[in-house]
Amino acid sequence: MNSTETALPATDAPWIVMKFGGTSVATLPRWQNIGELVASRQAEGARVLIVVSALTGVTDALKQLCSESKAINRSEAARAIAQRHYDLLDHMQLSMPATLGERLEDLARLANEGAATLGELAWQAQVQAHGELMSSALGAAFLSHSGLPTHWLDARDCLSAVALPNQNERTRLLSSMVDSRPDPALAARLAAQGDVFITQGFIARESQGRTVLLGRGGSDTSASYFGALLKAQRVEIWTDVAGMFTANPRQVPGARLLQRLDYEEAQEIASTGAKVLHPRCLSPLRESRVPLLIKDTNRPELDGTVIGPEVRAHAPSVKAISARKGITLVSMESVGMWQQVGFLADVFAQFKHHGLSVDLIGSAETNVTVSLDPTENLLDSDAIAALATDLAKVCRVKVIAPCAAITLVGRGMRSLLHTLSGVLAEFGQLRVHLISQSSNNLNLTFVVDEEVVDTLLPHLHDLLISAGALRTDDSALFGPSWQALYGNGESVAATTAWWRDAQREALLELAAEKTPRYVYHLPTVRRQAGALKSLGAVDRLHYAVKANTHPAILRALAAEGFAFECVSPGELQAVSAIVPASTPLLFTPNFAPRDDYALALDTRATVTLDALHPLEHWGELFHGREVVLRIDLGRGLGHHEKVRTGGSGSKFGVPLDQLTQFLQLAQTHGVTVRGLHAHLGSGVLDAAHWGEVYVQLASLAERIDSVVFLNIGGGLGVPSHPGEASLDMAELDRVLREVKAAYPQYQLWMEPGRYLVADAGVLLARVTQQKGKGAYRYLGIDTGMNSLIRPALYDAWHEIVNLTRLDESATALYQVVGPICESGDVLGTDRRLPEADEGDVMLIAQTGAYGKVMSSHYNLRDEADEIVIE
Ligand SMILES: *Cc1c(COP(=O)(O)O)cnc(C)c1O
Repeated sequence: MNSTETALPATDAPWIVMKFGGTSVATLPRWQNIGELVASRQAEGARVLIVVSALTGVTDALKQLCSESKAINRSEAARAIAQRHYDLLDHMQLSMPATLGERLEDLARLANEGAATLGELAWQAQVQAHGELMSSALGAAFLSHSGLPTHWLDARDCLSAVALPNQNERTRLLSSMVDSRPDPALAARLAAQGDVFITQGFIARESQGRTVLLGRGGSDTSASYFGALLKAQRVEIWTDVAGMFTANPRQVPGARLLQRLDYEEAQEIASTGAKVLHPRCLSPLRESRVPLLIKDTNRPELDGTVIGPEVRAHAPSVKAISARKGITLVSMESVGMWQQVGFLADVFAQFKHHGLSVDLIGSAETNVTVSLDPTENLLDSDAIAALATDLAKVCRVKVIAPCAAITLVGRGMRSLLHTLSGVLAEFGQLRVHLISQSSNNLNLTFVVDEEVVDTLLPHLHDLLISAGALRTDDSALFGPSWQALYGNGESVAATTAWWRDAQREALLELAAEKTPRYVYHLPTVRRQAGALKSLGAVDRLHYAVKANTHPAILRALAAEGFAFECVSPGELQAVSAIVPASTPLLFTPNFAPRDDYALALDTRATVTLDALHPLEHWGELFHGREVVLRIDLGRGLGHHEKVRTGGSGSKFGVPLDQLTQFLQLAQTHGVTVRGLHAHLGSGVLDAAHWGEVYVQLASLAERIDSVVFLNIGGGLGVPSHPGEASLDMAELDRVLREVKAAYPQYQLWMEPGRYLVADAGVLLARVTQQKGKGAYRYLGIDTGMNSLIRPALYDAWHEIVNLTRLDESATALYQVVGPICESGDVLGTDRRLPEADEGDVMLIAQTGAYGKVMSSHYNLRDEADEIVIE
């Protein structure tokens, strides 16, 4: 009915603001690229406003020009700048457009005149504005010439600087702010003129008509202002990286692309170190709720980072860890006048007086410590010394530098604290000068000595992932790692899980027969066995059978040459029934009754004692026998408190202070200690750990002549969270060889469980029901903690996928729960999965270890059965 609707774009076509930085506008191919990108946005039915920076290096050259005192040098500088633009025009095979010609003449005149007429600051602003005026003029000519009619727009006619209280002439002219309330009249005026516009970043006009600059990050800020004024559909910042990352990729190559942030989080990340976006440019957009998209000019196919209003449908997560170096701390100790009215005001007045802006504040009864951030302050030692002198009149002052501020950013930081224990433990080993938690609940900052940061940061990033604090499994939030996107691709060769491709169909068939069901993949068991066998220093490998006692797995590992470690008569029996009679066995029980030992001593198993009691009370049982002594080295390790088996908080091992007593008892009863044993915990991913245990055992063994082997236990972890680094076997090999070289007299034994079988097993279950409740969506499956108790017991994290819909995009956020009448019957919280249907087959990964063996009949539900595949 409305005949004008055929015109494209429609009169109410949305605006897209696209901003290109200095390198993106400096060459012909880059401009061709801009042309294509703009055309594609136009094809979406949008009007486009392009915001450009000056050609790279031009702004610096203009600043340099401003600092020259002689007219002749200034003119020379202006000529060199003009030449940059002539060269590019040449490449573009364009003749000089009138718009650019005027600008160049203007610049030459300004250079020649100097600051005299306009006044120093106004002249500087006017000169520096030419970078963008020239690049945009050139761009308009090129794009129009290439068939994309582009209108040149003077940003100063659109962006009006606002005068702020406390603003001096310098900030008013060189670091100005703009009124960015939506301006429908501007949008209508432009829409009447055309579809594609190009304008300048960095510049605006103040009320007296003078040109002003927007300061650092000015071009991004201009794009935001325009986005807000036009109430754009979105603002796109085109730069040389795909977006914001969970850490600075130069420090942490495994840092993940952040695909989705809200304004406040992005602001926080930008303010605490990320360089890709200036924090200033977010507030205009936040008010008008215009989303901002960061994109890589060279890789437009990458998703980039979208910054928009807060979205609730996400797992609470730490989003980023950043570090700012060059922080100076000023610690002020009161000299008795702390409670005095106005004392803090006097102290802070000194900071104001010296022009220093305070960032973090920590206060105690007699001390206030503040940090000074170099990005907000011109920190030179003179300024700080002068401040210290003045402060010394009212308090004792200590300046601590250089420091670094390490910040964790994420919405609802306080609700994440329980996941941060591993990270906090790291800080426990360092000198932490100041801890600050922002009042907006978005960040947690630790100030430490600067020198520790480079090694600490990658480590903390790993810890955040393995603790599940940085939820890399949420594919809606976290994209690929920087390494995967930009690295040489070497270290991202993570092996795809066996169940993902090759065996998927087989698994679906197995699930069609029956669920719940465990399925074990023997080739994976053998692969892991092979990795352990590559450890050159190890003389004997045992499989800790409590992880999984399935006969086929025992058989496979016996065939691989493994010995076996058992913790109960039942395990001894199960293993003996299957493995060849020549296979060595270890018996390592804990608080077992006398009869268990009696039984084990009748087999070929080597018995381990981990208390005084057996020798004190049943000495005759062990008379003439050889035993292994399990020692508690005084500390524990592992992925959860409940899997740490060292330290006085755990029930395992003879503590070091009872060692002499144990040896005396052994002598009394004619018992020979042949080996020492320690097993500190499970799920350890740090190779150095076993080196430490090995050395400790070896040095203890030197006091006991009869010892011939050292058993350093198991506990080798497998990574569970996406992006978590795996145990470096080459490094473990190196560490162990190093200790072996120092103590060649001892045989080295190990007894891993989880490492061999975890990845080999999956639990298949089927969707039963769904339920929405408040903000939560529950996805029910036909088994729960009765089949897999690790999530409830250890907060263990298992990857869960919808095997039926493996290729569908994960759009729902589910709490995956079982049918058991316990509120702890949750297998996975906040899981990003495809929309599921009743009957879908769900796969719970990495359940080959401590899965079936820990299952129960609770609620009298049937146990999952077990299937082995080759
Ligand atoms: C459980 C256990 C192991 C195996 O631990 P994993 O973490 O599965 O490698 C090794 N030694 C002893 C004494 C154990 O109790």
